[in-house]
Amino acid sequence: MTFTRSGAELSELDLALLRESIRLSEQSRKDGRHPFAALVADAQGQIIASAGNNSMPPEGDPTQHAELVAAARAARLLAPEQLAGCTLYTSAEPCCMCAGAVYWTGIGRVVYALSEHALLGLTGAHPENPTFSLPCREVFARGQRTVQVHGPLLEDEAATAHQGFWA
Ligand SMILES: [Zn+2]
Repeated sequence: MTFTRSGAELSELDLALLRESIRLSEQSRKDGRHPFAALVADAQGQIIASAGNNSMPPEGDPTQHAELVAAARAARLLAPEQLAGCTLYTSAEPCCMCAGAVYWTGIGRVVYALSEHALLGLTGAHPENPTFSLPCREVFARGQRTVQVHGPLLEDEAATAHQGFWA
């Protein structure tokens, strides 16, 4: 398990893809959905799958977090050995459900912008998003497979999509 908080092991490509997930989170809000988005890219930076949150019935449901949907889509497209070389980029730290999805799909790496702690500060106890206080690293630490985690990163940029949304 690699616990890296700094950007030392990150490339410019990583940051560009993380910014793309932030851009998609802003698009998700514009589309009337919760301001979250995620994408899965391979080691060359090619985007395999992306998603915004789709948590509102009847169109979606509360399990359709962006990270879970993007990871599931990627898992239908790639073989396990390819998924191991992929990274999930997300505008906010994966919750325990989505960290579980990353684990079960075999995606090897996560790069996130807002920490769950910072997100909790933005959403508070909003009934549509009563954010957990459980870092994804704690979920991954209990698994049998290594998932590298980088974050939080670009938190100010990622917070913009949430300004005024959860008030
Ligand atoms: Zn989630």
